[in-house]
Amino acid sequence: MSRVAMLIDESICMGCRGCQVACKQWNDLPGEETYNWGTYENPPDLSPVTWTRIKFTEVEQDGNLQWLFLTEGCLHCGTPACVEVCPTGALKQDPTLGIVTLEPDLCNGCGYCTQFCPFGIPRLDADVLSVEGKAYKCNFCQDRVVNGLPPACVKTCPSGAFDFGDREEMVAKGRSRVERLKQQGFPNANLYGEHEMGGLGRLYVLKERPSLCGLPENPQYPVLADAWQEVLQPLGTLAFGAAALGMLGFWFVARRNIGMEDVE
Ligand code: SF4
Repeated sequence: MSRVAMLIDESICMGCRGCQVACKQWNDLPGEETYNWGTYENPPDLSPVTWTRIKFTEVEQDGNLQWLFLTEGCLHCGTPACVEVCPTGALKQDPTLGIVTLEPDLCNGCGYCTQFCPFGIPRLDADVLSVEGKAYKCNFCQDRVVNGLPPACVKTCPSGAFDFGDREEMVAKGRSRVERLKQQGFPNANLYGEHEMGGLGRLYVLKERPSLCGLPENPQYPVLADAWQEVLQPLGTLAFGAAALGMLGFWFVARRNIGMEDVE
């Protein structure tokens, strides 16, 4: 097997949210209590129990309103900053398939991945200062993929907006769909994810510019991510160790002084 990718043609997506439901079913994630906040978009954001959702963006073009749909979820970066900064090894990149998985059992809830992901994807199930939180995100249905099955969202899509397979093949398909869209009168059509962040495992065919659809135009690998693991975290550990040693020393001195007071 080589690096895999899913290709999502957002010009075909009809916003039915079947992928949201399939993701919840396969991963055994509960529904969320939400409210009508004036849009068909629901729930309003990704969360520890919603790893995939359809974002609705309303745009006005030539006096007509239209929806642009975006299937949000982890984009499985080729160079994932979240893996680089994770101090416990909970986040890993599969060396063959290229997908990025998060193992909550190993997560210590530090929240670094939530801060360094250029797309703001992982979600903590508690406040970042709490010691009990864990991060969650889409794992590309790794358990299905290693058994030769497509991710649940891909399998369920009734409109055929999703495709899945060898990444190079998906890139080639994406490019030809973009060409077709341009011929159909969408001059801004583009393939998102071919080169961004080392090449994404979630590729999008978009009718309009990425920023109009809810994606960053030029996502950047955070400069601090490399330094974080190699320099800042060890420095933090050293500072913590020094503070612990200082407190231990203080405790010995205080204990000796109390002992001497008892003798006097
Ligand atoms: Fe990690 Fe964010 Fe990239 Fe997903 S989108 S692989 S969470 S950096």
